[in-house]
Amino acid sequence: MSKGTRRISAWLLVVGALTLALAPLFLTTARAQPPAVVTADGNPLHVLPKACWPEHLLIGRDTAFAAIPCNSLDVFPVGVRRQVDCVLQRLERGGWPYRVYETYRSDRRQRWLYAQGRTRPGPRVTNVATAQTGNHYWSLGIDVIHGKKLWHHPRFFYWLGQHYEACGMVAGAFWKRFPDAPHGQFAAWESAAQRPAWAKRLQAEGKRDSLWLRLGVTR
Ligand SMILES: [Zn+2]
Repeated sequence: MSKGTRRISAWLLVVGALTLALAPLFLTTARAQPPAVVTADGNPLHVLPKACWPEHLLIGRDTAFAAIPCNSLDVFPVGVRRQVDCVLQRLERGGWPYRVYETYRSDRRQRWLYAQGRTRPGPRVTNVATAQTGNHYWSLGIDVIHGKKLWHHPRFFYWLGQHYEACGMVAGAFWKRFPDAPHGQFAAWESAAQRPAWAKRLQAEGKRDSLWLRLGVTR
């Protein structure tokens, strides 16, 4: 072996050893994923935008996300997603520009909304302090608004309500006491007061998956 070949072999050995030593570093970087959103039962659900993360995953600066509504359709179990797709397809066929404003809502965001007009300036937007009895928290409700006129288009909201009902959902637009025009929800129960005992129990225990199973929305 010539002097030159020996030098090259030595270099190759060093590079090889370094590569082996550093490989795990690169491999772990490649494998590092953003944290998956988990259900209340601790099962992985989806990788979603931060605005859609349950609050136990949000820390420090992430609390700013309480101000941003989650509008991902990926939060829905399949049975609810089917109804929602039906509504959005009907809007599209009618030529309506629309915007999905909010789907899943964390308790953190509900408390942030509740604080508006109370401990934070602005008009009051809700009388409900916790999200945990509402449909949004359980990924069973959605708010849709007009694509350009936003909350200000009565004819759009009339048709939205019609489509919600045609697709098997409850339309907030037709509520007698507190109409909620953008709101549609899975037609399990109309108000918190109508929740059956089993639903109240599962919600109190935070069992999202069990609630979905019992409602038959997971297939
Ligand atoms: Zn709503």
